[in-house]
Amino acid sequence: MNGERNFKAKYVSDETIENSAAHLLVELGLFPQKPGTINVEVICDKKWFAPEEYIPLEDGIMGRALFSVMGIQQIEINATLCDDRTETGRRRIRSTLAHEIGHAILHEQQWIGYLQEATAPQLFSEVKPVKNGFECREQDILGQQPSDYAEVQANKFMAALLLPKKLVLELVGDDIRDFDAFGSASKASWQEEMIRSVAQTFDVSWKMAEIRLKKVMPTEHWELALK
Ligand SMILES: [Zn+2]
Repeated sequence: MNGERNFKAKYVSDETIENSAAHLLVELGLFPQKPGTINVEVICDKKWFAPEEYIPLEDGIMGRALFSVMGIQQIEINATLCDDRTETGRRRIRSTLAHEIGHAILHEQQWIGYLQEATAPQLFSEVKPVKNGFECREQDILGQQPSDYAEVQANKFMAALLLPKKLVLELVGDDIRDFDAFGSASKASWQEEMIRSVAQTFDVSWKMAEIRLKKVMPTEHWELALK
């Protein structure tokens, strides 16, 4: 019986993802001393001695992480993203890169196993891999509905890499302590100020800063601020 197989990501806890992102930054000497922008553009070169490639990819695809039986083979970013030279454009490239690095770190071992199995000679059947990596679209990286569990994991890694929990809390720490001093009317603007501060300090989109703050801040502060 011939057939094709799809890669399926295994469960990884949020804590493991947080730790592996922080560990990568420490390993490469890129964990900032104080809250600041993560130099994500040098990670591929430092980690795998091969920088990411900016090449034209099919319309709608933002980036790809490709694997072989040896491991991560190539990280590619759609060169058309470079046409947007605005702050938004730069942040989109940073997100895409961090997301693809997430695939490379979180899914490499699984891809090696999958490709070894799928390309090994079979006694009764030939099982072919349907692909050799991830093709990530905008809705996978920045949208609310990633197509696959592996995409959810890569997004969590992206957020942990660009916005290390320790540094985000350090940045907003004083403001959290002052929170009770705010009147209810000003809590919404307090929240906006937090988001703006995180987005600027770490050079990420407003949306990513907001999602990350909800995740790492004490819930009671964030929920109150929303009212
Ligand atoms: Zn992806």
